[in-house]
Amino acid sequence: MKEDYYEVLGISKSASAAEIKKAYRKKALQYHPDKNPGDSEAEEMFKKSAEAYEVLSDPDKKARYDQFGHRAFEGGGGFGGGGMNMDDIFSQFGDIFGGFGGGGFSGFGGGGGQRRTKGSNLRIRVTLSLEEVANGVEKKVKVRRKVQAEGVTYKTCSTCGGRGQVTKIQNTILGRMQTAAVCSACGGSGQILDSKPNDADAQGLKVTEETVSINIPAGVEDGMQLKVPNKGNDAPGNGVPGDLLVAIETQEHSTLKREGDNLHYDLYVSISEAVLGTSKEIDAVGGKVRIKLEPGIQSGKILRLRGKGITSLNGYGSGDLLVHVNVWTPKELNKEQREFFEKMNGNDNFEPRPEKSDKSFFEKVKDMFS
Ligand SMILES: [Zn+2]
Repeated sequence: MKEDYYEVLGISKSASAAEIKKAYRKKALQYHPDKNPGDSEAEEMFKKSAEAYEVLSDPDKKARYDQFGHRAFEGGGGFGGGGMNMDDIFSQFGDIFGGFGGGGFSGFGGGGGQRRTKGSNLRIRVTLSLEEVANGVEKKVKVRRKVQAEGVTYKTCSTCGGRGQVTKIQNTILGRMQTAAVCSACGGSGQILDSKPNDADAQGLKVTEETVSINIPAGVEDGMQLKVPNKGNDAPGNGVPGDLLVAIETQEHSTLKREGDNLHYDLYVSISEAVLGTSKEIDAVGGKVRIKLEPGIQSGKILRLRGKGITSLNGYGSGDLLVHVNVWTPKELNKEQREFFEKMNGNDNFEPRPEKSDKSFFEKVKDMFS
């Protein structure tokens, strides 16, 4: 069982963005590997705090986590969140500690102070049908991403000597302080371009088209974003590729309306079908479904087909398909029909006599959401 992100950072669910940041800063300082060499428990806590902060500091991810918990970040596509590596964690620090090397650490990851640069992220939009949303789908998309050109070589940056950062001595109210800044010549990677083929850009990169397969879990919603790690642009030198960020867009279905994991379908039947009973084919995800209507079915009745809705993103089963029965009253009648209905006027069987099971619309809606 994964620990609650709020508990990891020791904050309440109502914590403000500033409080979240403050709490993470405290944990990161407490568990930093430089302060706890060889302590695997501290390293574990360090990683957990970073992961919690990564989610809770992002309004999008936080909202998803608040709604779905850890399950929001599971599934094929791998929502951002779980499984951060040390590179990811340290790249977060510029934001937290206000500058590379801030906070008084000797270096990152206990190593030589060099940080692997990350390539830029790419963004694409994927449009899904209701069927694809309902069951999940693997999408193959063509992505134009920059990769290191064949034959390109990099050499150690002479400005920083390969360390990726330059140090400066500053006089402050606390005395002389040594601060580190990202090397502007190499962008922090410690490497610069040595030689490149003609068709590569100034960083030795070249655009190629690649087919990327994206596993989209069932139950995603319009506006969500999935992350495919390492399918963004390559970084020059020994950097790591950026990510491919996939924005989900969902198409409206012609007859089925989605509401959370439930689907709604409006079924229209004639007066005679309602009186005599009938069986009808209705739309469902994954094909048509035949349902039976008992003789005497009332307009407004809702039939619930369990499990015929959307497979839940949080992994707990599926929603239902709710069929709303609407009895269609004819607007025009021929002479014979008119005579029949006139004859039935006042007939005992035609008198409304609602029973408890024929709940009003409002009671049914109340039931559905309770
Ligand atoms: Zn450099």
